Amino acid sequence: MSLNGVEERLLIDGELVEAGGGRVYDNVNPATEEVIGQAADATADDADRAIAAARRAFDETNWSTDLAFRRKCVEQLQAALQETREVLRPQIIGEVGAPIGLTYAVQQDTCIDDITWEIGAAVDYEWERELPISDFFGMKSHRRVVHEPVGVVAAITPWNFPFMLNLAKVVPALMAGNTVVLKAAPDTPWSATYIGKLIAERTDVPAGVLNVLTASHPAEVGDVLTGDHRVDMVSFTGSTAVGKHIARRGADNVKKVFLELGGKSAFIVLDDADLASTLPGAVMGVCTHSGQGCAINTRLLVPRRSYDEAVEILAEAFRNTKYGDPTQMENLMGPLINARQRERVLGYIETAKSEGARLVVGGGRPAHLHKGYFVEPTLFADVDPDSTIAQEEIFGPVLAVIPYDDDDDAVRIANNSKYGLSGAVSSADLDRAMAIARRIRTGTISVNGGMWFGADSPFGGYKESGTGREHGVEGFREYLETKTIAYPA
Ligand code: NAD
Repeated sequence: MSLNGVEERLLIDGELVEAGGGRVYDNVNPATEEVIGQAADATADDADRAIAAARRAFDETNWSTDLAFRRKCVEQLQAALQETREVLRPQIIGEVGAPIGLTYAVQQDTCIDDITWEIGAAVDYEWERELPISDFFGMKSHRRVVHEPVGVVAAITPWNFPFMLNLAKVVPALMAGNTVVLKAAPDTPWSATYIGKLIAERTDVPAGVLNVLTASHPAEVGDVLTGDHRVDMVSFTGSTAVGKHIARRGADNVKKVFLELGGKSAFIVLDDADLASTLPGAVMGVCTHSGQGCAINTRLLVPRRSYDEAVEILAEAFRNTKYGDPTQMENLMGPLINARQRERVLGYIETAKSEGARLVVGGGRPAHLHKGYFVEPTLFADVDPDSTIAQEEIFGPVLAVIPYDDDDDAVRIANNSKYGLSGAVSSADLDRAMAIARRIRTGTISVNGGMWFGADSPFGGYKESGTGREHGVEGFREYLETKTIAYPA
């Protein structure tokens, strides 16, 4: 796949620019370990200029008040993305290691199409409403509730679905009338700079409204964004550890902080579910994109009396999972993002073995793939629900199968987690599955294979999986402030 149209520069104040001092770093293809190009390595000073530009654009242009103009600009961005999908696709596959099949879905195409819904949500939004006339000690008042953009938003994103997550923040933030500084994950710069390029070259978006930063060091630029008083809001997707750090920094000047964090979701297979048709879907879920998804169900809860049969079916599905070169359509899985993540996943596999889990399939680097950060699809049985692999997010293609005794026990194990992002329930009886789904403390849950993901579907976590929601009307509202104006009646 040939790489054309790559943008290696930052977008600051309407200009595509190099980083201060001309600093660059390598962009590495995780499937081949080859350097495929460079990205600008932004400095703290670049971040400062980006914030200043976003502040000025918010305070001194009519961006925040002209919804029709914002709509036109975001439609221009969508049209440019639609026209150039095939330019972008090899870039995403190249830097993310995402299997090509996924780029026709959530890694690329569906999120470009979803911009239509995001625009509609802003256009149809009830920006103002009148309350009944109030009477305060005989003083009668009209009261109008008005929604306004928050101001300057710092959007910080991870590498696993970078383009989708960049759009999921930038589009609603802009449509709400905010200005934005987007900071990409170090491993996936082009998924952000491509948006910056199109904004600069193909839209009427005023200078400073969107700024795009890429940097090799995760925190150098990030800490500038989260600590600066000119930034009104941080919209962050990433690990719980960094999310907590950002929340602490935001507290210093009481920033609005919106966090989409990690997960350790449970799939409950009820005792009346058909194992042969249910379990392969669970395997596909955990292996898609090598398990590098926050909402993947990485704990599988199976009734004790059908446990052995379930493990056999799962083992067969794991052995049949196709993985390797992400440019090939038949591969469900590509590599992990980098060597550090691969070593981290392999470390968890060793910990699981040492804590007594039974390794059924996989467990190492694939012998037939000599290049790339691959890990075999890995199945563990007899996993203690309190053990490390049942409690910590692994972010690799590793499934932990846990037996349970009855429905209450399954719910207890599923909720025995510091996370609360997602989950699934399967049963022959829809009402029974729905009742269990309501008892699970997570922001999304699938029943009998139902798909909750969508532009109009609020997504986010309970507990340490985050605060706030992305997507849906609830996600749009995150980017708004509320003002009440009163005047005499
Ligand atoms: P990460 O937390 O290491 O990094 C995420 C982003 O934060 C990157 O851009 C990184 O450069 C930046 N960052 C790191 N230190 C920072 C700092 N001090 N200040 C500001 N920014 C900083 O996460 P990751 O390893 O890139 O991604 C994997 C994690 O993301 C997993 O935990 C996964 O569950 C989570 N995730 C969550 C969702 C969700 O919607 N809940 C979606 C995708 C990924």
